Amino acid sequence: QADLPKTRANYVPLSPVQFLERSALIYPDKIAIRYDAVVYTYREFEARCRRLASALSERGIGRGDTVAVLAPNVPAMLEAHYGIPALGAILNPLNYRLDAPTIAYCLNYGEAKALIVDVEFLPLLTDVLPLLEHDILLITIEDTCVESAVNFADVERHAHIYYEELLSEGDPEYLWAGPDDEWDSLSLLFTSGTTGDPKGVLYHHRGAYLNALGSALAFGLLPSSVYLWTLPMFHCNGWTYTWAVTAAGGTHVCLRRVEPARIFRIIQEHVVTHLCGAPIVLSMLIHAPEEVKIQFDHPVEILTGGAAPPSTVIDATEKMGFKVTHAYGLTESYGPSMICAWQDEWAGLPLIERSQRMARQGVPMLTMAYATVADPDTHFAVPQDGVTMGELMLRSNTLMKGYLKDQPATDMAFREGWFHTGDLAVWHADNYVEIKDRSKDIIISGGENISSLEVEECLYRHPQVMEAAVVARPDAKWGETPCAFVTLKPDTAAITEEEIIAWCQQHIARYKVPRSVVFGPLDKTATGKIQKFTLRERAKNL
Ligand code: ADP
Repeated sequence: QADLPKTRANYVPLSPVQFLERSALIYPDKIAIRYDAVVYTYREFEARCRRLASALSERGIGRGDTVAVLAPNVPAMLEAHYGIPALGAILNPLNYRLDAPTIAYCLNYGEAKALIVDVEFLPLLTDVLPLLEHDILLITIEDTCVESAVNFADVERHAHIYYEELLSEGDPEYLWAGPDDEWDSLSLLFTSGTTGDPKGVLYHHRGAYLNALGSALAFGLLPSSVYLWTLPMFHCNGWTYTWAVTAAGGTHVCLRRVEPARIFRIIQEHVVTHLCGAPIVLSMLIHAPEEVKIQFDHPVEILTGGAAPPSTVIDATEKMGFKVTHAYGLTESYGPSMICAWQDEWAGLPLIERSQRMARQGVPMLTMAYATVADPDTHFAVPQDGVTMGELMLRSNTLMKGYLKDQPATDMAFREGWFHTGDLAVWHADNYVEIKDRSKDIIISGGENISSLEVEECLYRHPQVMEAAVVARPDAKWGETPCAFVTLKPDTAAITEEEIIAWCQQHIARYKVPRSVVFGPLDKTATGKIQKFTLRERAKNL
């Protein structure tokens, strides 16, 4: 038999930390990070991460310990993605738009031993600290562009040091051990917790390594790529681009605030080639004042996802000169897991059909082993007819280890050997998946399922509509009816509820037409998703 016995002699646990070591070896003098006037080469980036790991280790942080970070997309946040996992410790990026009790809940539940906090969030932290059940090492990131108005008397109970001071204590050549095993925990991400306490999703090194490579390939990252940080790094570790850009040897351009004028200017100035953002970020660029918009003379790719992008948003973004790719994913899948892979023949389609194809969630990313759309009870795949709905289920090395301290929820999510996304989808004949709704968002009216996304797509096609969300409103006769929440484009004439309803009647089946329309701004989550949970409450009380 032409085979050899299995050996572990050449086994090296996969870890995304290795990407930094490799890029620092190959491109020591290349710019790894830009942030305003700050520039770090790959040699410097690696040395700073080694200092961080060494200094944390000196302070007793080691394997299995949680280190939380509450920071915008500044270099320290990126460095945390290497310096912490390199110790075998667990990185816990926190969503800074959460309220103080929820942040305290995350720190208590994750038993964070240290918290790296940006000076911008010190006021929020003063409300968090009294709620902590244990002592924590506080490490503050200072920034010349943010003034701190916090009195450290409030944090007296906890040890405190400034981030740069901590780095100066560390050894730039520190030999980090890396994880013992590629299945060791790397990162802890809390879900947004709209329906209860947030769940702690645990990633392993193996999954992050693979997903980062899949993400790099799906987005065409190269050593010449310049990636702008418009997507919060706390969201699925920036959809694993915190590691993917480094793997490619590209340049990270950090950004504290996502503002259109700044984004356009930086794209031009630093020849940015790639950025990611939820559809809301695309809308923000589309509706930016004309005087801040810049027509670039180089190609700029945008990866969008995290919520369904209406096809009109894809259209308008491409018209500004961006090339849009659409991805789908969840926190549990390290961010991107499905990608709407481009097919050359779509180029010849009429614009509307082309953008409708691109608005589908697509096919598994290279590193996502299997995806199916199946009946949630029988687990039989639905026919690929573009009509029959089933639940999207995934099976891969790029799925979470599980929910921290919650085995029942983990078992439930992975029942029958598939990860249940909770998203309802149809499967098209060309193998592309199209999400119709989250199972909790689907509207059931008179026994018929109404996809809220389909009604929203119709609303977005109205020339005066900027944003739209459709939710179920309880109804004595029909059980539920669709209720639309709509924000109009700035500087457009007012429009009535009747006009919106008449528009829908022209374009979609009668039973799908919203019975009520509410105008005004829509509540958003930290990652720019419309909060249907609060809209449902509002619809109930109309
Ligand atoms: P949260 O639950 O806080 O929104 P996640 O980022 O984990 O956090 O959200 C994942 C969900 O977002 C998916 O289950 C799906 O409902 C939705 N989603 C993500 N990407 C897309 C997309 N491209 N199209 C439609 N829905 C999406």
